[in-house]
Amino acid sequence: MKHKKSKAKMSMTSKILIWMVAGLMIGSFINNFAADTPWVQDYLVFGLFHVVGAIFISMLKMLVVPLVTFSLICGVCGIGDISKLGRVGGKAFALFMLTTALAITLAIALATFFAPGQGFELATAATSTFTAPVAPPLSQVFINLIPSNPVAAYAEGNMLQIIFFTILFAVCILMIGEKGQPIIDMAERLNDVMMQVVNVVMHVAPIGVFALMAKTFSLQGIDIIVPMLGYFAVLVLALCLHMTGTLMILLKILGKVNPLTFLRKMRTAQIFAFSTSSSNATIPVTLTTAEKRLGIDNPTASFIVPFGATINMDGTAIMQGVATVFIANVYGIDLGLTGYLTVIMMAVLASIGTAGVPGVGLIMLAMVFNQVGLPVEGIALIIGVDRLLDMIRTAVNVTGDAAITTIVARSENSIDMDIFNDPEAGSIEDMHLPHAEKV
Ligand code: ASP
Repeated sequence: MKHKKSKAKMSMTSKILIWMVAGLMIGSFINNFAADTPWVQDYLVFGLFHVVGAIFISMLKMLVVPLVTFSLICGVCGIGDISKLGRVGGKAFALFMLTTALAITLAIALATFFAPGQGFELATAATSTFTAPVAPPLSQVFINLIPSNPVAAYAEGNMLQIIFFTILFAVCILMIGEKGQPIIDMAERLNDVMMQVVNVVMHVAPIGVFALMAKTFSLQGIDIIVPMLGYFAVLVLALCLHMTGTLMILLKILGKVNPLTFLRKMRTAQIFAFSTSSSNATIPVTLTTAEKRLGIDNPTASFIVPFGATINMDGTAIMQGVATVFIANVYGIDLGLTGYLTVIMMAVLASIGTAGVPGVGLIMLAMVFNQVGLPVEGIALIIGVDRLLDMIRTAVNVTGDAAITTIVARSENSIDMDIFNDPEAGSIEDMHLPHAEKV
């Protein structure tokens, strides 16, 4: 019986993976052989794939705000102790900053060693122009933490503001004592319902992931990488080294857990991050993975995962490191040690104020370039390959969020190691739809 169940569980993750690869192959096929076929473009790429993909992304985003809210209320009330809350938040924040700094340092070191961009033909490459979007100044980032209107914060899905307000609200539920208990009970029930909604949405995930991949790769030919091969390869190398090196060492040393088990369990969340290019949209999957697959308790996971999705972006920091060296090489500018230190500091700070949504890395990059005096138009050079790299770095961002959540949970004794070590724990379950005869 147990065996039969685990087989059914296994098949969902593999199903998503298979559909993802199928989408990638069909998309690439269309890009190569049917890029000019009107009916394929109209009915498939901008028709079926676009519609199904957009619906799927909306379904994921639909989960984020209510899930984070109810989960966080349960989490804070579950911790019950405000000093513990501060300690957990402080540890997570310090580790997020540390991993981001390590990530960008590794990226700059590798890029300086391999020197991509030297001898790059600027005249032929810079055919498009890039107008830098405006990044928020740092002071505004702190002011923006406080929602002047919480309803607007919820409506806009502003994660940091939602986290701030929900924590304050939940702490005040605790402060009113006995009278707050019915609200806690209700938040727990609502959280159960939201978890079930996640479960339902996960069952349409294979099709959604397929559509997203098929559309992206229909539009994005792999051959676009060729002229940018140096930049692309160094960036992917740094992303891989960070994910399988730095994060795994931290998990082993600070978290004292088996990094390979962690990586295996992160696969579904990584696939979601890869196909949506959004850490924010992936929050529901990262959260369920942290709680159900890694065994982290709800108070810790519900606090750190959404926090990380907003302020922790290791993959994005790596992109900034490599991009800075690349553009400096292309334009023959020597940034010097101070320049690179500024880049590291700026990238760490920029990650705090920007949300984990597609393409935000380029906005942060513009901010970094402005600071160190690199030509912002240089971003036009890398924009072509950025869609693909966004997918890869988002998977790294999400892995970093979960790794830090695991390390903090371990240090707080908030992780059930039996669940962590059980390979089958928390796989997507079979759904039990209510049947008429039961009603
Ligand atoms: N798409 C990334 C994320 O959501 C951010 C970025 O690098 O553009 O984490």
